[in-house]
Amino acid sequence: MYFDTKAAIHSPAYKLALIRRVQKRYYTTSGRIFPKLFKAMELNDANLKEIADAMFECTRCRRCTIHCPLGIDPAWPVSAGRYLVKTAGKAPSVLSMVAQVGVEKAKNISLYEGLYLEQIKILEDQLSNDTKNPNARIPVKNQDADILYVPIAGAHSIIPAAKIFNAVGEDWSLSQFEANNYSYFLGDIEAAKWFNRTLPFQVKSIAEVMAKYIEEGRIKLDPSVNPGTTTYHDPCQLARNGGVYEEPRAILRASVEKFRELAPPNKEYNWCCGGGGGLIVPPDLKELRMKTGKRKAEQIKQTKTTAIASMCENCRSQLVDLNEHYNLGVRVTSLIELMANAIKQEGRNSP
Ligand code: SF4
Repeated sequence: MYFDTKAAIHSPAYKLALIRRVQKRYYTTSGRIFPKLFKAMELNDANLKEIADAMFECTRCRRCTIHCPLGIDPAWPVSAGRYLVKTAGKAPSVLSMVAQVGVEKAKNISLYEGLYLEQIKILEDQLSNDTKNPNARIPVKNQDADILYVPIAGAHSIIPAAKIFNAVGEDWSLSQFEANNYSYFLGDIEAAKWFNRTLPFQVKSIAEVMAKYIEEGRIKLDPSVNPGTTTYHDPCQLARNGGVYEEPRAILRASVEKFRELAPPNKEYNWCCGGGGGLIVPPDLKELRMKTGKRKAEQIKQTKTTAIASMCENCRSQLVDLNEHYNLGVRVTSLIELMANAIKQEGRNSP
């Protein structure tokens, strides 16, 4: 972000210095007695505003982490800074609101169950229609399932996954909770926790699961139904932070006519799309997102593709905005949509 704005608050070193100055003011004797001399920072309104902007105008992409010669990971102090700002009531209001909605929903999940099941029934009908299979199912509350799929809200993340699970005959269940976790964006680790214990199962990205189906030959795909050239944007959370690089590429190679790597830097050095870390949520940050996403837009232009896929809903929303703002003329899509579309169906002709 600093590359594009040259604003001090966007420099990782400056963000960390702000936190250190607050720590000095309240947790060191020298800072408490001689705050000016030791540049200790008091938490007054003006300072809190600066800290809030510095902490929330960061995508937590960790590009600074891989370049830091001291091995510092600024994403965690930034999280702590966000929590400080949130506790002082100065976090972006829309982010606080959606985080609170998530927490309340988790407390009263049974209140939402009837409506949720009705919506899933509608999606199930759509699935049967699309796949011409009256037995296609979106199972919910299947407690013995081998896989619990936790989607982002919306048909576009549920239907394609359901098509793939049904095609391979997976024993699966759809989660009633969605994968969005806005408390995490607020640095509120306690509220962000789903379980306060070691999980008795493995947590994997859907990309890892789908790539395994391809590797094991459990699904037949026809890449010609996704024509043109498709590139892939590595989401910071899945790639740089989660280490998942090859599986999305394996899915694309099997699902699209032609896969092309994004013009460098890509993989672990990929530029963040500019919408991560919760920046996609507050409407007043759109101008900043477009400014800091300019590099991504240029990368896409250089790659010369018909479509760009990602595996993260934040990236996808940001790429849609960049596509429009910079007139890129590409189709923005997701890996599972491309893979689901490529499932070989009896009687379907390739375009
Ligand atoms: S995490 Fe990304 S956006 Fe935040 S300071 Fe580091 S490089 Fe900049």
